[in-house]
Amino acid sequence: MIKEAIVAELQKIVGKENVLTKKEALRAYSYDGTTSWIHEPDVVVFPTSTKHVSEILKIANAEKIPVTPRGGGTNVSGGSIPVQGGIVLCMTKMNKILKIDKENLTATVEPGVVLMDLNMGLAKEGLFFPPDPQSFLGATIGGIIAENAGGPACVKYGVTKQYILGIEAVLPSGEIINLGGRTLKNVVGYDLLHIYISSEGTLGVITRAELKLNPLPPAKKTIMGVYDDVAKAGENVFKVLENGVIPGKIELLDNWVINRIEEMMPMGLPKDADAVLLFEVDGIPEAVEKETEKIVEVAKKYGATDVRVAKDQAEADKYWMARKAGFAAVFGKAKTVFAEDVTVPRGQIPALINKCKELAKKYNVEIVVLGHAGDGNLHPAILTDIGNKEHYERAVKAMDEIIEGAVDFGGVLSGEHGIGLEKQKFLKRQLEPAVIELMKKVKALFDPNNIMNPGKIWE
Ligand SMILES: Cc1cc2nc3c(=O)[nH]c(=O)nc-3n(C[C@H](O)[C@H](O)[C@H](O)COP(=O)(O)OP(=O)(O)OC[C@H]3O[C@@H](n4cnc5c(N)ncnc54)[C@H](O)[C@@H]3O)c2cc1C
Repeated sequence: MIKEAIVAELQKIVGKENVLTKKEALRAYSYDGTTSWIHEPDVVVFPTSTKHVSEILKIANAEKIPVTPRGGGTNVSGGSIPVQGGIVLCMTKMNKILKIDKENLTATVEPGVVLMDLNMGLAKEGLFFPPDPQSFLGATIGGIIAENAGGPACVKYGVTKQYILGIEAVLPSGEIINLGGRTLKNVVGYDLLHIYISSEGTLGVITRAELKLNPLPPAKKTIMGVYDDVAKAGENVFKVLENGVIPGKIELLDNWVINRIEEMMPMGLPKDADAVLLFEVDGIPEAVEKETEKIVEVAKKYGATDVRVAKDQAEADKYWMARKAGFAAVFGKAKTVFAEDVTVPRGQIPALINKCKELAKKYNVEIVVLGHAGDGNLHPAILTDIGNKEHYERAVKAMDEIIEGAVDFGGVLSGEHGIGLEKQKFLKRQLEPAVIELMKKVKALFDPNNIMNPGKIWE
């Protein structure tokens, strides 16, 4: 429990209106995008400047009060849950786009800028920020950097770390540092900038970011491949790439997700299909036409039972709406959902999908598959109920074996959601002991009092 005198000091720094202590307000900051954990903080503080963040961290460090940075709270690994209480440092009031530099294709932003607001601002200048987590309505740039978020567009454009040129951050001691810069190339000393990208709020607080932007592509086309076997859809992913086309997006929805979406908002998806793949190609119109033709040809040659090219943007939007609704479709259907985030080399997607099918039978649980197939990053989701111990335990076993399987297939246990509270027990499975030791030393060096998001990544 934080002392009243400390709360008063926090109020002095940010103003009373930016400090929440009432029970019902604390409740609102006790969870994230998962369905497994709830922990209330002692206090929620909204800084509006880097100086505020620095002063708050100085107090927290001196008093050894846990600090959990929070953006939109949309993460799905327990990242923004204050498991040890203390301060939730909510960055959503530091939400200004400070500068859009069209000449250099960069933007300077505060960490609380919501991704959709950023892209709406950039679109007016003919620009966009490519990493596109499907939580764009709520996810903030700070959270996106701290999770190294990805999304459908990563097949062609890459993940967040490829679009961060520099950051300002506040160390747990309160010291303000600048890492990276505004240039595309930068090899001045060790690359500490990238230590912050996917640091999950455990090394300090990101207070400003310099983003790399792209011009908006002038043309786009959406293609839907329909498959009678989800593993065949998985195979189609690397066949398209092997045949020389790198689409902007390749997303997968399995039969369960297709039918659940049709139940929620009928839009004419093929309910009998075992899976569909959604491809998007973008670029100059002539290239988009040629790449569309190639995808149709390859998809048909390698097992698609039907291939539909969206005739206009309205039809394309409908298909992408189905994909965007994917997570909601799954989460709305069970009390507890494990949404996995394993990533394998693309050639192993069919093997991973078959493994999920096998485990669904073995443990008699529903495992549905959707995700960023183009990156080999699937989100197999298990529907369960934490209140039904026997079912829940079977679900946990199935989930553990999916993760083990992904690592065996040469993959990783998280592609974009991070370790958070969820995957700590698997770190040893993925990382060598010497690497774990080095990482722990990095954490201790940045945060000797372990005040930054304690309990995350490391138990
Ligand atoms: C429906 C849905 C769809 C999603 N789709 C995707 C997807 O396609 N791709 C993907 O990668 N993820 C996806 N996610 C996960 C999530 O949206 C992303 O991880 C997002 O990046 C989190 O941003 P946020 O602002 O909500 O961060 P939060 O959830 O608030 O925090 C996430 C982590 O970042 C830390 N943090 C937040 N702000 C800062 C800061 N300023 N400085 C330091 N640390 C900070 C927190 O402590 C926490 O550890 C999805 C989630 C949902 C609910």
